[in-house]
Amino acid sequence: MTLPAFSLVRPQTVAEALRVLQDAAPGQAKVIAGGTDLIPNLQMKLYAPQLVVDIKGIAALRGIEWSPGQGLRIGALTTLTELERAPIVREQFPVLAEAVAAVAGPLQRNMGTIGGNLCLETRCLWYNQSEFWRRALGGCLKLPMPNPHAAHPRTICHVAPGGKFCWAVWSGDSAPALLALDAEVEISGPRGVTRRPLRELYKNDGMDRLALGHDELLTAVHIPARAAGRRGTYRKLRIRNSIDYPLAGVAVAMEVDDQGICHAARVAIAAVNPAPLLVPQAEALLVGQKASPELIEEVARAVTRTGKPLTTSASTPEYRREMLRVFTRRALQACWDRRDNVEHERDTGD
Ligand code: SF4
Repeated sequence: MTLPAFSLVRPQTVAEALRVLQDAAPGQAKVIAGGTDLIPNLQMKLYAPQLVVDIKGIAALRGIEWSPGQGLRIGALTTLTELERAPIVREQFPVLAEAVAAVAGPLQRNMGTIGGNLCLETRCLWYNQSEFWRRALGGCLKLPMPNPHAAHPRTICHVAPGGKFCWAVWSGDSAPALLALDAEVEISGPRGVTRRPLRELYKNDGMDRLALGHDELLTAVHIPARAAGRRGTYRKLRIRNSIDYPLAGVAVAMEVDDQGICHAARVAIAAVNPAPLLVPQAEALLVGQKASPELIEEVARAVTRTGKPLTTSASTPEYRREMLRVFTRRALQACWDRRDNVEHERDTGD
């Protein structure tokens, strides 16, 4: 579990970082910020980059700025702890405060950044293992490892052996919350600075997860002002509540008036597909409606139709799908009851 050999560069500006990335051959450079995802993956020899680009020294990528006209701008290097504690996030964007507070444990949140959390590698039981473990099986479609004694051909997916698609899951917490807040990402690259909806960052492909060029850098996240004040909550299934990746996650953000009528709603899920996904049917079902058990159940069913858990994670697909339904019900009811931004009950599926 030692680190492979690589060269390390520490640019101090975005322009300098982009020059380094542009000069590197595609696939030969990895960007590091907090390192909570990259370092274990390097130790497991999931990659062998020639170059690691440490962007932690770029001061321009830090900080949270709020303007009632422009909304919230979050620099990519803002740590998850800083986000969790920021009064503007806790007061105006509770679904995001809850989601980042649910990431891993305090040490990872102190190191991990919002940019890194959005760019997490996808995860799979058959992939996130030591080199020795993977080699015994001959690797898999995502990372073949020649072994003439392996029982399977080395280009097989162990999750869906008949297919040619990688189902490794995107297993983060912040993205569903940001999708529920209509967030955009700021991308810096050779063509300048562009903004695009967060949902367009993800390709829903476990092998090639991000629509981000090798010479581009995610530099900030923007939440529009119209999303401020939305009621919101995030529910997460994991084995150990004190630390762990999600096995299923549901984020809900809603605008509800004094009569209990919903005027805007977003439901997003994570850790059950190769990308975090919005559930568009949820918005169509909820807007203009008051809470009722039948409506909440209908939305929960729509969510379970979008989630496609397979045997990629340390729990059964059936249980994770059922927990999507349970979490959606609980989250919608909590938003309608205005029980947002609270320490929610231990989610056991009861
Ligand atoms: Fe490998 Fe299949 Fe898992 Fe992808 S889903 S990492 S191809 S076993």
